[in-house]
Amino acid sequence: MNKITVKDIEVKGRRVLVRVDFNVPLDEKTGDIADDNRIRAALPTIEYLKDRGARVILMSHLGRPGGKVVENLRLDTVAGRLSQILKQPVVMAPDCVGPEVENMAAAMKAGDVLMLENLRFHGEEEAGDVLFAQALARLGDVFVNDAFGAAHRAHASVSVIAEYLPAAAGFLMEKEVANLGKILENPARPFAALLGGAKISDKVSMLENIMDKVDYVMVGGGMAATFLKAESYEVGQSLVETDMLGTASHLMELARRKKVNLVLPVDFVVADEISNGAKTEIVPMAKIPGEKRIVDTGPQTIDSFSRELQKCKTVFWNGPMGIFEIPEFAGGTQELAKLLAGLEAITVIGGGSTAEAVGAMGLVEKMTFVSTGGGASLEFLSGDKLPGVAALPDKE
Ligand code: ADP
Ligand code: MG
Repeated sequence: MNKITVKDIEVKGRRVLVRVDFNVPLDEKTGDIADDNRIRAALPTIEYLKDRGARVILMSHLGRPGGKVVENLRLDTVAGRLSQILKQPVVMAPDCVGPEVENMAAAMKAGDVLMLENLRFHGEEEAGDVLFAQALARLGDVFVNDAFGAAHRAHASVSVIAEYLPAAAGFLMEKEVANLGKILENPARPFAALLGGAKISDKVSMLENIMDKVDYVMVGGGMAATFLKAESYEVGQSLVETDMLGTASHLMELARRKKVNLVLPVDFVVADEISNGAKTEIVPMAKIPGEKRIVDTGPQTIDSFSRELQKCKTVFWNGPMGIFEIPEFAGGTQELAKLLAGLEAITVIGGGSTAEAVGAMGLVEKMTFVSTGGGASLEFLSGDKLPGVAALPDKE
């Protein structure tokens, strides 16, 4: 990555304002942190800064409070968890800007960690407001962006602030850009993109961009229904994006033109309803009963994907193969996760749900790289410049 990183800047004794992505999933009932991976992913940068005697000021958003204070989206639970992990106090600020917070930042000692309150309690954050970015900038001497998961947003704390402080990338940001960049620039071949998830609408520009780079595109999950419907197959009650049928045809045509092997499922797991304990049935692709819906990719398809994937040197996977949140419909996703974990290939996972599925199976360490950025990883792979990355100064 050709950007200035924390290693390139003086941090000793300085107030380092770090944008992190602590937008962790919360348990709906208890409000507890359901998964603290996003906190752990920022640790290398935080520890590095602490070790070098920086005063570490962390800022993040959590959820979608929409510009006002929402009590259960306060960041004190997150600060508490970070404090446990770091084994040191993490002081929680009452807000993210203003004189009181400025005083707290000024009083910090080397190695102290201060957590600012949810940035999105202020509407100015998402609006990319200049005055708000300047108010944040007053808290620090330097700005470090380690929030790859928010890098696709031109928000005040993500990109705008970089104009008002010396700026650098954190280690997570560096790792994300390096790993995702590698598969776009010079992937080992054959290179397969394995795609699933509910919809193609979120992924069209990513698909168009990677068509130039890949040898295979394998389509499973809910989005397969839209491709099949575009080829005039019956898909019963399956989720179909009717406004995307033309786009699906266009993508298949693009694959033909670019000599990309686009592989569609040959069988599916179908059910009457999407619920725990639903009765499932395996049917050939061309024989989906009218009253049923696709809930998972079938075993023959998983076998055929597996055979092709075993030939590949690079695999990018985005989107679960079925409605994996329901155990009865998780088989295809789990089989492929296991297969990828055992491949002698570069395996890169993008997308929030896909990372969650891989994480739940304990396979993160077996993959080359699991991106922490859901939307950001897709936008990066679309070939778009991410505002949070673009705002950081280049090396030299
Ligand atoms: P990611 O977050 O990894 O990018 P997506 O957001 O595209 O993945 O898709 C994840 C969602 O797709 C999951 O909630 C999953 O239940 C859903 N999904 C997968 N297969 C199907 C299907 N056949 N029908 C409906 N939804 C599906
Ligand atoms: Mg998703």
